[in-house]
Amino acid sequence: MSALAEPAFRPLPLGAIRPRGWLERQLRIQADGLSGHLDEFWPDVGRSQWFGGDAEGWERAPYWLDGAIPLAWVLDDVALKTRIRGHMETILAGQRPDGWYGPYPADAAARPYDLWAILLANKVLVQYHEASGDDRVLRAVEASFRALAAGLDRAPLYNWGRFRWFEGLIPAFYVHERTGAGWLLDVARKLREQGFDYPALYESEDIRVPTPRRGLWTYTKHVVNTGMAAKSGALSWRLDQRAADRAFPARMIEALDRHHGQVTGMFTGDECLAGRNPVQGTELCAVVEFMYSLEVLLSVFGDAAFGDRLERVAFNALPATFTPDMWAHQYDQQVNQVQCTINPEHMWTTNGPESNLYGLEPNFGCCTANMHQGWPKFAAHLLMRTPDEGIAVVAWAPCVAGFTTRQVPVTVAVDTDYPFRETVGLTVTTERAARFPLMLRVPRWAAGATLEVGDEPARGMEPGGFHRIDREWSGATHIRLRFPMQPRITSRFHEAAAIERGPLVYSLSPAESWTRVNADKPHREPPHADWEVRPASPWNYGLLLDGAAAGVTFEERPIGERPFSPDGAGMLAQVRGRRLPDWKLVHGWAAEFGPGLRTSAEPLEDLALIPYGCTNIRVTEFPRLEK
Ligand SMILES: [Zn+2]
Repeated sequence: MSALAEPAFRPLPLGAIRPRGWLERQLRIQADGLSGHLDEFWPDVGRSQWFGGDAEGWERAPYWLDGAIPLAWVLDDVALKTRIRGHMETILAGQRPDGWYGPYPADAAARPYDLWAILLANKVLVQYHEASGDDRVLRAVEASFRALAAGLDRAPLYNWGRFRWFEGLIPAFYVHERTGAGWLLDVARKLREQGFDYPALYESEDIRVPTPRRGLWTYTKHVVNTGMAAKSGALSWRLDQRAADRAFPARMIEALDRHHGQVTGMFTGDECLAGRNPVQGTELCAVVEFMYSLEVLLSVFGDAAFGDRLERVAFNALPATFTPDMWAHQYDQQVNQVQCTINPEHMWTTNGPESNLYGLEPNFGCCTANMHQGWPKFAAHLLMRTPDEGIAVVAWAPCVAGFTTRQVPVTVAVDTDYPFRETVGLTVTTERAARFPLMLRVPRWAAGATLEVGDEPARGMEPGGFHRIDREWSGATHIRLRFPMQPRITSRFHEAAAIERGPLVYSLSPAESWTRVNADKPHREPPHADWEVRPASPWNYGLLLDGAAAGVTFEERPIGERPFSPDGAGMLAQVRGRRLPDWKLVHGWAAEFGPGLRTSAEPLEDLALIPYGCTNIRVTEFPRLEK
């Protein structure tokens, strides 16, 4: 019996959900790209001290495994699984009798050692335990926590460990729920006591203020810490059920939206929180960490709003920041990103001139190591178990999930081209008749959503929550859902207009000119080379928009083999606009513009916008034109 509060939903074991359709293609692209090959050529992972080598021995190999493990298991990729098993054997063999892992410095007791990498490694190891069922891994994590408990008494958390203390709660809870060991919850409380107090930060004036450009780097407003910390309240709530912990995540996200929010569902941070300006950057590590935090929040609290947010980030910010083949990524993406170049005139808060290049390790290699968890963990969290033997679809993408309820094997298949289309087919198949609830998340934007079960007449579903069907299921039951996607024009920074429909944001995607750079740097042989991208057609348009959605129409296109690429875009938005000749590059970026309507004597043009996630360069927040 666990002393922890029961979560609203429990994730299915890794491997129980398999991607289908466009999601399977996307994960295959990822496994055939950098994620499935990084350990073969990048020394910081391939020759990591975690793997018995002589290179980096801190966060990078654990970061890669944190994404490579779910990638291998959701795809059932035998070759990748085999390599991961080999790496895990090395980690287990390297653990010392005192519980510390191989890379822990021999003299760490005598000098400060930042425990962050140990917290991360244990989070990764329990994920591997879930995938492999290898109980040696559970014992290794338990031994590591015994060492950690002593280490925390010797020297309290500081630096990264202090700001990421809650990451340690994930493996502590995992082992506690399987062994009943109460002392692990004492270690969890000790981590929280020594860790940074995020709720206090979000009470302060400081959180509202954008970090000055070329300004001051801090742990407190660090964007990756922020993305990770979004789940801290949920984990802390499971420990002691304090009302303030339950309320904190929504309050934190509201403050981030208000002061640093972007239309993609992310917040800026390049690499500390940088305001709402659409030319400031968002680091890739923050995107994947915020997604995982939202998955934890969905699981613990069961609030559908976290599902809406998860989809918005997953379908927009995540794919946009990779090349369509997922061999190259950016450190920072911009919502208005008209070129990606080596740019000494940049106006990031603290990042460097290469931060928006597409490449192997632009600016810094953390994202190269940590980017892999985005799609695989999203796929693994699409459906979750309910406490009453049922199943909840918490996010929508094509997949099939298998589980057993009341001793009856069940599969739930989700067939859809959502988010590019508004219909979903669900098939619930049971081996024998069984009664259990099926919970379906209805996005808040989906006014007029409908449901048809078998031959029964269509029914409406309330947006912004879960629609519950509690019935006896027998054989195969077909369900048809429709989430009507109404266009929305939203007012952003300085009254700029952004076009949205359903969970997707739409952007102008200029023609692209790609130039290979940094060919002399190590490990930059194609396909893992570095690239600049410049616009090869005009980008400086204002839009003519009448009323709520007037003047914007949408058109279906075939969804490409690479669903998130300019050529593969499965939906177009048609708008009208005029060029703004005085809207130019400043500091190598699209110039900032003030509030108010703009005039232009240029001809009115029809413009096709594509989903933000399909673009490599783009304009997303547009000046509005006077009629
Ligand atoms: Zn990073």
